[in-house]
Amino acid sequence: MIIVMKKNATEKEIQHVAKRIEEMGLKPHLSRGVERTVIGAIGDERLLKEDQIKAIASVDSVLPIMKPYKLVSREFKKEDTIIKVGDVEIGGKNIVVIAGPCAVESREQIIETAKAVKKAGAKLLRGGAFKPRTSPYSFQGLAEAKKATGLPIVTEVMDTRDVAAVEKYSDILQVGARNMQNFELLKEVGKSRKPVLLKRGLSATLKEFLMSAEYIMSEGNHNVILCERGIRTFCEYSRNTLDLNVVPAIKKLSHLPILVDPSHGTGKLDLVAPMSKAAIACGADGLIIEVHPNPEKAISDGDQSLKPKEFADLMRELKPIARAVGRSI
Ligand code: PEP
Ligand code: MN
Repeated sequence: MIIVMKKNATEKEIQHVAKRIEEMGLKPHLSRGVERTVIGAIGDERLLKEDQIKAIASVDSVLPIMKPYKLVSREFKKEDTIIKVGDVEIGGKNIVVIAGPCAVESREQIIETAKAVKKAGAKLLRGGAFKPRTSPYSFQGLAEAKKATGLPIVTEVMDTRDVAAVEKYSDILQVGARNMQNFELLKEVGKSRKPVLLKRGLSATLKEFLMSAEYIMSEGNHNVILCERGIRTFCEYSRNTLDLNVVPAIKKLSHLPILVDPSHGTGKLDLVAPMSKAAIACGADGLIIEVHPNPEKAISDGDQSLKPKEFADLMRELKPIARAVGRSI
């Protein structure tokens, strides 16, 4: 259920309603819009004494949320969610591009890549630290690259036991496609205050994808960034089939930002640029792209990684497309 407060409701009145929801055995989730505050009552809806809530003078209306996902839905929050990471805003008018290698391989590799992608206009640095064969010093490499460039970091966390450690280094916690339904991990990152980049599972439906985001949000972390990264289909030409249909669909169903990963979504170098453009054209809030200074020698995903020069060219080519859909880059 969502409880829509009257426009002039005071903080005290909002807190009173939240307290009443809690007393009824449900969890209140506040969403403060420009116009008014909406309170989600999450849990067993049968517990909500609707008439009593409606009787509170500061309450405008009590509405059911028809979708199985509640906090994630547009019904709960009409305005787009904008997630701030340092000075960067994800989900606003600006298209945000995250770039970097699949895996952190060495201090030199990550710093060199960070400098190059920053120069080309990337706003955040990606780099996997929990990859087979990578060294435990990867985090230090990422931290140094951040220090050298000022770029905030996105790195994957794969285990509930590592959330605290990854949180220390990373500005965004990435949950990988294979862990999209690792509910223990979702709950753990849901307790974190760092934004979460949730990648769509390899065979997850849109509903399952949004339900996973709901899992994170229901633990209190409302800073969830969705990411389409391709799904398994019968088509074996590309590594995955990049399902751009979900971009406008998510925009309709949810207020959360949606990014597209054309690197894993295609697995093919020459498909990365065209699909990046298509993603921006259909309304994605940004991209996450693999870039490596020497893809030939990359320990993972070299065949889908752009060289810094190719990345810089792509960034230039994306500008008119962003402009055409009323965005900037
Ligand atoms: C990644 O981004 O490093 C990655 C492994 O992607 P995915 O989880 O989408 O396969
Ligand atoms: Mn990769």
